[in-house]
Amino acid sequence: MAATKSNSKAAAKKAKAAPAPKAKKAAAKPKAAKKAQAAKATKSAKPKAAKDVLDFGEFPAGSVTRHEVTLCLSCIFKLFTNQLGLAPRTAYNEIRRYAPTVGELTARGPARPFFKATGEKNPHCPYCDAPKRWHARLNVYRVEGGKASDAARRALVKRLPTKDEQFLMTEEKRTARQVFFEWLERLGQTLDFEEDAAWMSAAARAYLERREPKADWAAAFDGARAVRRSQRLEEGWERDGARLFLAPALYNDVLLVQYLVSRSHRHGGRTFEGRLTLPDLVGRMRRGGHLDAQGITDRDRFDVLEQLVEHLTGGDATARLHFLTDRRDLLERAKEVIRQ
Ligand SMILES: [Zn+2]
Repeated sequence: MAATKSNSKAAAKKAKAAPAPKAKKAAAKPKAAKKAQAAKATKSAKPKAAKDVLDFGEFPAGSVTRHEVTLCLSCIFKLFTNQLGLAPRTAYNEIRRYAPTVGELTARGPARPFFKATGEKNPHCPYCDAPKRWHARLNVYRVEGGKASDAARRALVKRLPTKDEQFLMTEEKRTARQVFFEWLERLGQTLDFEEDAAWMSAAARAYLERREPKADWAAAFDGARAVRRSQRLEEGWERDGARLFLAPALYNDVLLVQYLVSRSHRHGGRTFEGRLTLPDLVGRMRRGGHLDAQGITDRDRFDVLEQLVEHLTGGDATARLHFLTDRRDLLERAKEVIRQ
């Protein structure tokens, strides 16, 4: 028993020791060679990335969004050593344990030591000018709660390694309405509102995937050039050549989503039915029987819109959000640049 243990320990040591001389060699090489090696490393790393343990493939469409922020290790190391007076070794350990809050990581205007990557080839920290090797990428995945996504999330968490807290999970409560509008805002950021046909179709599909994740929306939209309200379907969708027909309830909610997502971008909402003002939208919903179907009897159009939004979003019902923070790059970068 003991022999096996020491054997495996020795093997582990060997495995750990193996990459070390390579790293030293790289450090001694001139810059150009280093660059080439870095490029090579990125290339060979690609197939590995595909098999990453953090795989959201099993999650319902639209239930996961990713937020990336960069952390400058030089800034934080200087803070710990110069201002807080920590010994370098202690500072290193503190940085490895560093667990920023979701609020810090997803802030619109990140504050030191966080910043948004600019996409530059050789970026420098906007606060202390430290080069790229000091920059750690932190990814936060926002997962909406729900039956299908809860099962997928539990399975994923089971697979994730627990060592060094590479992954952190936190949970927050919101209302269904808040969760919906956060989703809608992110959707709006990805759409190009100059290309009406493209964004309207993309918005419709994103919403339908979120609403009915099990339906085959890829097939529904594949090659579809027009989306219409069906006169005969009561639910779901059907194709007739290049035209996609949606059941009225789906179609009307798609119009509402398009209206909501585009109204701040295009001076009034734009939908499959053209540019709609609020009275246009409400009138259309009323004539189409959409208000009756939802039991909306208000006359005032702002009240009607509020009611429509309540139905669309789920209103004040409790919704859970799960945030998964990927700290792997932070741990790796810290090891490389600080613990030498
Ligand atoms: Zn910095």
